[in-house]
Amino acid sequence: MKKYTLILFASIFFANYIGCKTDGAIKDLPNNGSNVLEPKTNYKTKNVIIIIMDGARYSECWGDVTHQHIPNIANTIVPEGIVSTNFFNNGSTFTNPGHSAMTTGVYQNINNGGAEIPQNPSIFNYYLQASKKKQEACWVITSKDKLQVLNNCTNKSWKDTYQPMTDCGNNGLASGYRHDTITLQHSLNILKNYHPNISIINFREPDYTAHGADSLGYIKGIEDVDGYIKKIWDLVQSDTAFKDKTTLIVTNDHGRHLDGTANGYISHGDKCYGCRHINFFAYGPDFKKNTIVTTTYEQIDIPATIAELMGFKIPTSEGKVMWDFFNKK
Ligand SMILES: [Zn+2]
Ligand SMILES: [Zn+2]
Repeated sequence: MKKYTLILFASIFFANYIGCKTDGAIKDLPNNGSNVLEPKTNYKTKNVIIIIMDGARYSECWGDVTHQHIPNIANTIVPEGIVSTNFFNNGSTFTNPGHSAMTTGVYQNINNGGAEIPQNPSIFNYYLQASKKKQEACWVITSKDKLQVLNNCTNKSWKDTYQPMTDCGNNGLASGYRHDTITLQHSLNILKNYHPNISIINFREPDYTAHGADSLGYIKGIEDVDGYIKKIWDLVQSDTAFKDKTTLIVTNDHGRHLDGTANGYISHGDKCYGCRHINFFAYGPDFKKNTIVTTTYEQIDIPATIAELMGFKIPTSEGKVMWDFFNKK
């Protein structure tokens, strides 16, 4: 009997020892302020910036072979990065559900008006716990005030803890949308002053103007945000805290109805191909350059990929790492 007990203890010890040796990522240690490890990876990425062009339809962006409305993305970012041409929102094709899928890795039919926080912890929660960095290491910067809900979750182990900083709408939740030019200026200031490790930026256009049935304004919204993205790109290239160590993701929370479905570009929210098929561009030191990726990926794959790059675990995510973007080792 004693012999078996000894073998059991030896096995447990050995298993733990092997686990420590082989697991290069952050451990699930209790965060008691002493023995939590810094995230460690072999990747060059130290920062991730996700930019959301709200509700742009694929057909007016990468799906238009001339790329006439996204010249900055097409001519500046794409040659240095990847385009994922089969990228989808496979959940609810509204703003808050799309955004929460991209921060938690779980599709949830969350209230689209800001009345509900996500059920699952986010990339911000997991990163801040793993890194033990200050709250300022993560930011949610959005034109739409209702997206402030991305800073929290109902999971009782995580609620009100490891929350990112927020700069949303006119003055936080229920304060109304602000113009994208304000969001751009706030984004540039926050990036320069805090050099956050993970940030998400939402521009309300072209969605905001499309809902007003203004077809020319909808196109102008795409072109304007394309220009704002270039400003953020320029900052990343000129700031030594970001240059060659930042992964930039540009995508949409949802698309819009195909022409012929409901009222076409004016609305969104169902399962039509136009609402589900979205744009996805990415650039970073660990990603391939000038590459079109045709593998099918989806919004919930974003958190798993960021966790891989940044060296933390996100066990509640239901997505997968988008390996086809990565440079061969
Ligand atoms: Zn939206
Ligand atoms: Zn639709």
